[in-house]
Amino acid sequence: MSLFQSTLIEVATAVRSQALSAVEVTQATLDRITALDPEINAYLYVDREGALAAAAQVDRTLRDNPNAQLPLAGVPIGLKDTLCTRGVRTTCASRILEGYIPPYDAHVVEQLRAAGAVPIGKLNLDEFAMGSSNENSAFGVVRNPWDKARTPGGSSGGAAAATALGLAFGTLGSDTGGSVRQPGSYCGVTAIKPTYGRVSRYGLIAFASSLDQVGPLARNMRDAARLLGVIAGHDARDATSAVVPVPDYEAECGRDVRGMRVGVVKNITEGCEPAVVQAFQAASQRLAKLGCELVEVDLPHQRYALSVYYIVATAEASSNLARFDGMRYGLRVSGEELQNTYRKTRSAGFGAEVKRRIMLGTYVLSAGYYDALYLKAQKVRTLIRDDYAKAFTRCDVLLTPTAPTPAFRLGEKIADPLAMYMQDIFTLPPSLAGIPAVSVPCGSSPEGLPLGLQLCAPHFEEARLVRLGHAYEAVSGFKPLALNA
Ligand code: GLN
Repeated sequence: MSLFQSTLIEVATAVRSQALSAVEVTQATLDRITALDPEINAYLYVDREGALAAAAQVDRTLRDNPNAQLPLAGVPIGLKDTLCTRGVRTTCASRILEGYIPPYDAHVVEQLRAAGAVPIGKLNLDEFAMGSSNENSAFGVVRNPWDKARTPGGSSGGAAAATALGLAFGTLGSDTGGSVRQPGSYCGVTAIKPTYGRVSRYGLIAFASSLDQVGPLARNMRDAARLLGVIAGHDARDATSAVVPVPDYEAECGRDVRGMRVGVVKNITEGCEPAVVQAFQAASQRLAKLGCELVEVDLPHQRYALSVYYIVATAEASSNLARFDGMRYGLRVSGEELQNTYRKTRSAGFGAEVKRRIMLGTYVLSAGYYDALYLKAQKVRTLIRDDYAKAFTRCDVLLTPTAPTPAFRLGEKIADPLAMYMQDIFTLPPSLAGIPAVSVPCGSSPEGLPLGLQLCAPHFEEARLVRLGHAYEAVSGFKPLALNA
């Protein structure tokens, strides 16, 4: 069996027992990236030296202390380029951050290193994580490894494509309104958006601070659960990071799901492509066969989620992105005086979608519109959250498709922002409510493209999602992308 057919956990186990060296695994992954990534463009930067040095350090640690607690010993992990990495360029796929080298690691990167993981490089995305197709990257599109004419999804397109193709054994993305789940669905991998507050945002470059969460992508649920266990937990440097104990997520894999009440939202698949409707129905039947109890629930305010999201997220983005002014980070295009330097830097540095969001966000926050738009959106956000609370009195987990279509063709929706925004119709509501949600491979479309199943749970109940997602994985019939060499 080739190394790349091994799971993340198998690799960690082999390195921990010194049957395999971290340097060997890392070198093989670097070689694979060199061979396969030119066609995919998942990586914006591959940190060859840093990765080999980190791997050598893991090998030394294990030689000195064979019992060292390293749950990710020697495992190459890719990082979405929204995560700060000390001494390693971090761009958010934006020209405005070209040349920026963070002086510190994000909390999640520190956690990975402490667990023995090998951060291997920075992954492509839609600029500042704004988009659903990775076509908004300033550094080129990412191609879906299942069909290179198609999008890998977005904004964590690089993370999903790299995970599917074995250009890392797992990756970390960030999710504001669907950015790990939707690309996870398009690329046939497992993606977890944790509860808001479950994972520290320290060192995650902010898009919309009341929504952003870091989340893992992996080729199966058990691997994703291990990654989640490593990055979750309180961190005093993020005031919204929750003081809630981290359970053993991995232990959920294999637990019985009989009697679990699974909520199916009324008329949820309306407007989805037929293949999605079919796969979703088949998925609910499989869950029933596993002994889950299906119950119909209603989320009456869900249909406002898209409007609410594009008010709240853009408002927060307009304020967060004000810091990119040519004075502190990355790009500076000098003008005659200060105002002019700001203008020139921001005009040259931001792409079209980011500008659109900054303008929208500034508008909804401006005097005269604040009450009518921003405040109203916040109130509806509360209603959306209340709907979930009500639904979760009747079910333990909620089921929806992850996206209304399989991966679409590159170029197909880029001229129509609304059609693009509609891709997130299922992933936005849990983000607004702050609840955890995962996407697991659900099945395939007739043309052989992966489809995703989204599972949602109440705040801090990720363990239920791991349990049910893992049980579903065993009966889904889905075959991950075949990896060779
Ligand atoms: N696609 C959504 C957007 O463009 C969500 C992105 C994200 O979660 N970062 O905002």
